[in-house]
Amino acid sequence: MGALDGQVALVTGGSRGIGRATAIALAEEGANVVINYTSNEDAAKATAAACEQHGVQTLVVQADVANVEDAQRLVKAAEEQFEKIDILVNNAGINRDKTVARMAPEDWDAVVQTDLSSAFYVTNAAVGGMRTRKYGRIIQISSIQGQQGAVGLSNYAAAKGGMIAFTKSAARELARDNITVNAICPGYVETDMISGLSDEVKQTLLSRIPLGRFGRPEEVAQTVVFLAKPSGDFYTGAQLNLNGGEYM
Ligand code: NDP
Repeated sequence: MGALDGQVALVTGGSRGIGRATAIALAEEGANVVINYTSNEDAAKATAAACEQHGVQTLVVQADVANVEDAQRLVKAAEEQFEKIDILVNNAGINRDKTVARMAPEDWDAVVQTDLSSAFYVTNAAVGGMRTRKYGRIIQISSIQGQQGAVGLSNYAAAKGGMIAFTKSAARELARDNITVNAICPGYVETDMISGLSDEVKQTLLSRIPLGRFGRPEEVAQTVVFLAKPSGDFYTGAQLNLNGGEYM
């Protein structure tokens, strides 16, 4: 018996990295999982197969969550298949790092749209069913950069900081319906998102982390599980920092 038996989780960007680890960790606890991706169908199917090893059902849905119609279609597909969404993990994200002076408006728009507006689009579509059933656990994958900012990441930091502010407002609005909304703020995590950094940059980043290492996707996934299980029931509007001490 898992703590999430019979529940349904929707993970945006579940094909790779943190989203993949999260989908699998939720499946380990018994949740049926909807796995969203935008372009890597094979990776999304591989995540689904890994989830099914734990005896749960899955649904794989291609949708660009930066697009409002796609986001709505994603939620509709999940609700048609499983009749409800208990746990929503707004995880899909991209980065396009440039200094403010060099950043094209398109780089700003793409990151804000994908990392912030998507969380609103999917939450907006999913929250009606949660309110009707008086239950929901909405978990945003924000970032340490939304808390402290970073050189070359103004678009990303603005989106992730916006996600934290969105979390607090939504938490206040939705508490009466037994829907909690929390933000996980990881520091650097070893995924494709940081695999392109040079060794030199990685060493500089590591030197700023008291625990002296990057995070692992599975560590973020276990924080999601903590919030989704009854252990997280009294958390709402919170920021859970998971960063090796880089930001305190
Ligand atoms: P990855 O690059 O490894 O994976 C990104 C995931 O998001 C993929 O599944 C990708 O799908 C999906 N995705 C991207 N754009 C869209 C879109 N428009 N619609 C639907 N899905 C999309 O990233 P991480 O796992 O590292 O990051 C996951 C989240 O965690 C992001 O929000 C990121 O900002 C955040 N984060 C990451 C940190 C890190 O250091 N890695 C630190 C702090 C926060 P596909 O495979 O189809 O491309």
